[in-house]
Amino acid sequence: MKVSTHTCPVCGFDQLKEAPRSKSGGGSFEICPACGFQFGVSDDDDGLTYDEWREDWVERGMEWSSLGIKTPRGWKPEALLKSLLKKKK
Ligand SMILES: [Zn+2]
Repeated sequence: MKVSTHTCPVCGFDQLKEAPRSKSGGGSFEICPACGFQFGVSDDDDGLTYDEWREDWVERGMEWSSLGIKTPRGWKPEALLKSLLKKKK
């Protein structure tokens, strides 16, 4: 069975279990294990934009955020972020 994954619009982590936003616009409430952004909470409730969160996260040294999920082998935040930002342009 193929498991589809989704890309985090903040950090480019490409193994989110759910789409950050449903088609109707609601957040998934999933917390990105890489950057710690929670879709539907960090944005809707706390009023943070993806860009603001990303800048902050980069400033903190792009650390793996989740305590419950182990950092995937070969996770390269710089490369993921680079390809995410390239796609945005
Ligand atoms: Zn993320």
